[in-house]
This record gives sequence, structure tokens and C-alpha cells, in this order.
Amino acid sequence: MTGSVPRGVLAREWKESFEEIYSGAVNELSPPLKLFKKVYCGALTAVSYAKKMLNRSICRYGADYFVGYPDTEFYLPAIFALSGEKITKLGELVPILNRMRDQIKEDFSFYQARLHGEATAYAAEIIESLRYLNGTKSYAAPWSSFLGDSFVRRYGILLVDWTIPGFAVIMGRAKTLEVLKKIVQDLQDKGFMIFLSNEIAEQAMEANLKLGADFITFPFRRFTQVIHAMDFCLRTGLAFGGIEPGNRQDVRDYVRRRVRAFVLHLGKIDDIQSAAHLAAIFLGSPVITDQELLGGEQIPNWYLSHLGDDLVTVAMEVRGIKLKIVDIPVPINVSSVFEGEIIRKSDLRIEFGGGRTTAFELVKMVSGKEIEDGKIEVIGPEIDEVEEGGCLPLGIIVKIFGHKMQEIFEGVLERRIHNFINLGEGLWHTAQRDNCWLRISNKAASKGFQIYHYGELLLAKFKNDFSSIVDRVEIELITDSKLVEEKVKEAWEVYIARDERLRGLTDELVEEFYFCLVCQSIAPNHCCVITPERPGLCGAVSWLDAKASFEIDPIGPCRPIKKEGLIDEEKGIWESVNEYVYLNSNRSIKECSLYSLLARPMTSCGCFEAIMGIVPETNGVMISTRKYGGMTPCGMTFSTLAEIIGGGVQTPGFMGLARSYILSRKFIRAEGGIARIVWMPKELKEYLGERFCQRCEEEGLGTDFVEKIADETVGETAEEILAYLEKKKHPALTMDPLL
Ligand code: SF4
Ligand code: ZN
Repeated sequence: MTGSVPRGVLAREWKESFEEIYSGAVNELSPPLKLFKKVYCGALTAVSYAKKMLNRSICRYGADYFVGYPDTEFYLPAIFALSGEKITKLGELVPILNRMRDQIKEDFSFYQARLHGEATAYAAEIIESLRYLNGTKSYAAPWSSFLGDSFVRRYGILLVDWTIPGFAVIMGRAKTLEVLKKIVQDLQDKGFMIFLSNEIAEQAMEANLKLGADFITFPFRRFTQVIHAMDFCLRTGLAFGGIEPGNRQDVRDYVRRRVRAFVLHLGKIDDIQSAAHLAAIFLGSPVITDQELLGGEQIPNWYLSHLGDDLVTVAMEVRGIKLKIVDIPVPINVSSVFEGEIIRKSDLRIEFGGGRTTAFELVKMVSGKEIEDGKIEVIGPEIDEVEEGGCLPLGIIVKIFGHKMQEIFEGVLERRIHNFINLGEGLWHTAQRDNCWLRISNKAASKGFQIYHYGELLLAKFKNDFSSIVDRVEIELITDSKLVEEKVKEAWEVYIARDERLRGLTDELVEEFYFCLVCQSIAPNHCCVITPERPGLCGAVSWLDAKASFEIDPIGPCRPIKKEGLIDEEKGIWESVNEYVYLNSNRSIKECSLYSLLARPMTSCGCFEAIMGIVPETNGVMISTRKYGGMTPCGMTFSTLAEIIGGGVQTPGFMGLARSYILSRKFIRAEGGIARIVWMPKELKEYLGERFCQRCEEEGLGTDFVEKIADETVGETAEEILAYLEKKKHPALTMDPLL
């Protein structure tokens, strides 16, 4: 992730006054009078026009008639966010518009100009909302209309963590199509979200630019629709910032800090447009235009004229947007837009792991002498030596040297391989460690993508995203099956040693847990809570890893949760955990227990190492793993189960988990712990091995407990295993009823 800003932080953590950001920009003794007068006139016009439209609608439909946008829980979002008013009826808009009219005064200070901007935003919001009366959508494709909450969930999170580096609103009219083309394509290459308004949007269509959600470039037919940019930004504050609607300061503060927006205005500027510019500034976004401003009146940092053709660069500088990734040398596009991309069997050029072959990934810290910076080596066959739809084993070994690198960071960096590879168009990666599973699509391969390019991608991303700790990187991509089998054993030793580091650390001993939001790019409401005795469900983020991640990047995806307000010790429910989970799950998960499968279990994204689920007939639970392809006593295979429980929802009775969690003393403590396990595949029994037997003994279940647990050789249905459990006198049969 390129971001260095926290997700899910409460706005109150930044307590300074928002208005301070404007101080000193304008000499109030000689303000840019011409500009502020234009803004005043523009605001007046906008509000009067809104009034006229509103009156007409009320005459026609009545004051009680419903008004609102489709697909949003935030009413008219700009108004709701700024004032907290929940508008649903036409009549309710009348006093609001009057209030805005009163807010427009013949006072030409910068402060007042911003209030004029605000009034203009309200006017635009009202005018636009009236176009949705009757439930009709007044804009047909290819034009964009109001972007619903689903868009906010999909792209908002990427904007606020700066994966999408910024948000450009382009308005006016470009001198030529070429000028516009250059600007838009430049922004698209950089991964920006783009709103095109009115004439510019028409020009963009004429120029055949790539438009629509796939390119996060939205063309709006009418000028007033520019308000939807504000609707979008403000909702990120409500949805991700945990800000109360109506908290006008905090929501603007959030938007300014997290959504790096700016306005580019091309061509002549009329009064209403000037007023709209001030609405952007009111929200903390600067405006840059290719026009000479009247009397040369600029406002440093906020309202600038730039006559050169590097408008985008200037806008980014003013907004403080730095892009680190410069052209990764791979023949495919690399962007967060591709993170959720799925590669089906029919599009498959080649795959690695996923049960067909051995695949693993490992990040290892080495000394400066053991590394050749920038070296990438493929050891074994390349992609062209394999038929279409075929597979190869794969070992990804990333050697890292850094003056500030520490061994405890290895796991954190390794976990990011997943995100990095998924950025590539036509690349797919899931799970981690020796469970990882990768695919390259036909399309990517036809563009020339080879196994070697995984190296280029990882090299660039590690250097870019972890520049504070990574100095040198060398990458080995092993596809030689003998060597992979050899090296995976070395990797196991490292994985186990990492897990062992936690030994002796209990949930009671620490003061804080961590949450991890790495997987929100794929499951936007998912949030793992990580404790010493419960690793993230991917099995690759332990409490120590999360702690290290926080150390490397204090405002990154893993952050601490103070353990406060114990509600239920048995189930593992804390007030503070609930609060964080709620805020970081887009307010979808109200309560979350850390040690229970039945009562509000943790959500599951998609990269769990294993899945557990109740088998009601046996009064116990079964666990299946990614490596086991057969049927389970739940009546579903792992992949069907994964589809049902994944995506970031709570599914009481089912849960994704890390294999090592089974060895934890906190393993579903609320339901009675490991004594509940009635079935798991042989493969898992082998993996857990001696460590599991020790745990059984500790629990007083005897070292032979593992034999009482059924596996696929006993049966794959509840009926088949029940007889076995009875014969073996499995304790689950006589425990308290699960349901
Ligand atoms: Fe983080 Fe959980 Fe995803 Fe693992 S599964 S990377 S712990 S969010
Ligand atoms: Zn995940």
C-alpha cells in the first residue's frame, strides 16, 4: 500500500481547529476583491436558481413529496454531512435554502467567500436532488449520475488510504481535445479518481477517452452535478472516519487530510463556477486554473493560476501528493483497481500452488554481503515451457537487507506479497506462506508477462512501500520442482520459529491487541482482531507481526487497540474491541467476540488457512483446510464453504481461522475448546502434529485424543462419523448442547 495515513482513525485524534489551515493565505486588508465579488454574485445566482426550481417542484408534487438520491443511507449527503439534517421531503428544503440565502452577505473576506462556497454547494445539492423526483434517473449511460454508497465503499477506502493517490475534479472547457486528453490520461496513468463536469465531460467523450467505473473516471453531464464530488468525499468522512453527521469541522478536516482532492479549471470562469471553486476550498481542496485570474488575484496554496502545460504536476505539488511508483518494468498495468480481479480457469495461462503444486513465499532478512541488490533470478522453467492452463511449483524468496531492517519485520513484509501481486492486471494471488496460490491470466501472458516479472513487481513495491526499512532487495523465483521441495522445508522452519516466538505470551499479559485491515481492499468490511493467542485468520499475521507492522508504519494497516471495558471474559468481548471493529468495518459489525464461534464471531475475508463449522448432529465442530479438496461433514467442500463465509461478514457457527489458532488456549473457549473438534482432514492432523498432542494433554483430553477425532478415512458425512465418535466415546457427545 502506498498510503501512510491511518484507516479507521477517529477524527478527534486531530484536534486542532480546521479553520487554521486558511490562516495567512489572504491579506484581509487587501483581499482579492474581484474574485470574492464574483463568488458572491455566483452564490446568489445559484441559490436563487435553486429556490425557483424547488418552488416549482413543490407546486407540482407537494411539500411532503419524497426527495432523495438512490442507493444511499446518507440522505442528501452534502447537507447531511455538514448540518446533520435528514432530508426526505421537498418542504424540508425550504428553510435550509433560506438559511443559505441568509449566509450570503456583502462581505468580501476570505472567510465569507468560503461561506458563499458552502451556500453554493447546498444550492447545487438541492438542484440535483430535484432531478431524482419520481424515482427516475435523469442521466442515461454513458453519463454518470449520483454515485451510490456502493461506490463509496468500493473506492472510498482506497482513496482514504491513498492507494488511489488523489481525486481530481476537472471543470470548464479545454482549449483543445489534445490538452484534455493529455491531462486525463496523465491522471489515469497515475491512478487518480476523476470527475469531469459538463463541457469537459462532453469533450472527453468526443476525444474518446476511457470513461466509467472501470477507469474511475466519471463524466457528468451537467455543471451542478459537480456537487456529487462533494457528496462522495463527505461520505468517506461519515463512513470511514467515524464522524457524526453535522460535525461540520471534523468532516471537512477528515476529507482534507484523507481524500487528496483538487480542482482543475480549464478555460473561462463564470460567476457560478467561481462560487463552486470556493465550495471546494471550503472543503479544503485547492483550485488550479489555466487562466489568468482577474487582476492576477491568486490565493497562495488555494487558488492558483498556472499557464504551463504541467497543470497536473503543479496541482499534485500544491495538494502535496507524491507518487512513489515510477513505471514498474512489467508489461501489464499495476494499480489498486485490479486488486479484486478474479482469474477463472478459462482465462488461465498458468497457476502455482492451489493444491496442484507446491508453492511458498518467504521474506528473509540477510546481511549486506549476502545480497546483490536488484537481482532477480528464475531458477527452473519459465512460463513458455508450460502448456496453456498448466502449472508449475513456485518458491518466492525475497531477500532483504536494510540498515533499519529487523528480523521481526520479515512476516510483515511477507504478508504484503499478497497485496503487491494482486495489483497486477491479470495476476491473482491468495493465501500465504506455503498455502499461497497464484494465477497468471492468458491476457497478461499474451502481453509478455513472465514469472520473472513477479520479481520486478515485488522489487519495486518493497522498495517503494517500505523505503524506511528496505535498502536492498534480491529475489529468487524457483520453479524447479526438486529445489522447491527442498526449500519449502527451510521455509517451514522459519514459519514455525516465527510462530514459536509467541510462546509464553498470553492475552492476559498484554495491554493491547491489534486490528489488521490489510484485506479491506478485497473485503471492505473485514477487520481481523489479533491477540497473542489468536493470529489473523490468514495465519501470516501474529500479534508480534502486527506490533512490528505498527512500528514500521504507525499509521499503516495494523494499529493497537487498548484492551478496555471487559464485557465477557469467556467469549472474549471487550468494549474497546467492539468500538474499533465497528468503526473499521464501515459500521457493519457492532459486536465481535474473540473466543467464540457462535456468538458474534469474527468476520472472514477470503484468505483463511482453514474453516471451521458446527456439525449439529455430533454436538461438535469440524475444521477443513485449503489443502483438503474433499467433502466435509458440513456437506460442503472447502471452496463452497469459503464462498459462503468469505467477504467480510459474520457467519455464526462458521469461521475462517489460522491453523495455529487451533493450538491456542483461547481456541473457541466459549464453546469448550479443542474438545469440540470432531473432524479434521488427515493433512491437518499431520500439520499440527506433536504440538496438538501436547495441547490435548494440557486440556486433560489425553494424548490419544487426536484418534477420537474423525477424518476423511472415517467418513465425510455427519452420519458416517457419528458412529465412530460414539465408539471412541468422543467428549463432544456429552458436552453442553452447542445449539
Ligand atoms: Fe490482516 Fe486478517 Fe487479512 Fe491476515 S487475514 S492480512 S490478519 S486482515
Ligand atoms: Zn484476507
